[in-house]
Amino acid sequence: MGALFDLHVHTVKGSGDSSLLPAELLVEAKRRGLRGVCLTEHSGWRDAEGLRRFAAQADLIVVPALEIETAMGHILVFGIKGYPEGAADVRRLRKVVSKAGGYMVAAHPFRNLFNPPPYNRSLLYPSPDGYPATPQEAATHPLFELVDALEVVNGANTGQENLFALEVAGLLDKGAVGGSDAHSRSGVGAGHTLFDGDVRNVQDFLEALHAGAFRPRVGTGLPLLADLGAVAAAIEGKNGVSRQAYDHSGAMPAPSTLKGRAPDHLPPWR
Ligand SMILES: [Zn+2]
Ligand SMILES: [Zn+2]
Repeated sequence: MGALFDLHVHTVKGSGDSSLLPAELLVEAKRRGLRGVCLTEHSGWRDAEGLRRFAAQADLIVVPALEIETAMGHILVFGIKGYPEGAADVRRLRKVVSKAGGYMVAAHPFRNLFNPPPYNRSLLYPSPDGYPATPQEAATHPLFELVDALEVVNGANTGQENLFALEVAGLLDKGAVGGSDAHSRSGVGAGHTLFDGDVRNVQDFLEALHAGAFRPRVGTGLPLLADLGAVAAAIEGKNGVSRQAYDHSGAMPAPSTLKGRAPDHLPPWR
């Protein structure tokens, strides 16, 4: 029981870099057993009413949302109307979202962090010199005081990036969500979020977010997800997170203190 939502999807209707048509999205979402999808469009959602009508026929809950580029990386925003002015300033964005009763998620916060140079540019840290060596250090980033949740399963991230986010979310009193970040048909549902009980509409969805009644999940049955197996195991608590996952040849040294140990800080949803 429960309701599966993909919290992070881009379509051609509001994201110039997406090839995913709304009709394809609805077909894929149903096929993957999703109850709903969040359209986290880069440039806002156009013709939202038309899409809602379409979704109603397909018996799927479509949540209008945004993915906003800010000075502290990408943020998924739920529960506001229109595209807020001055949103690049996260503190300002926080005020707008709080006033509207909305919800903010730090999207793929540690993307690229473990890549070798020059592919290791992070949106959260200006220079690799300042990259956090441990999840504890990463948890002190000012962004995390300003959001309600962290995206710990992102279908376009590496398993390592997601594991690190999972670990950081476990240290913070924040929600932890999953989404696919799909920009095409193939990625839909790669990451998703399981809500307790039923979610009947957008209002229910927002209330469930605020209630924290959810947990992140890794999608199954998609070939691109082999790398996320360790993330799924960590979420399910079946195995300790393999600290070997943090070994890498990139700019960031592996936090040796964590090697070979189960997580010290269990995520709050366990
Ligand atoms: Zn993004
Ligand atoms: Zn995205």
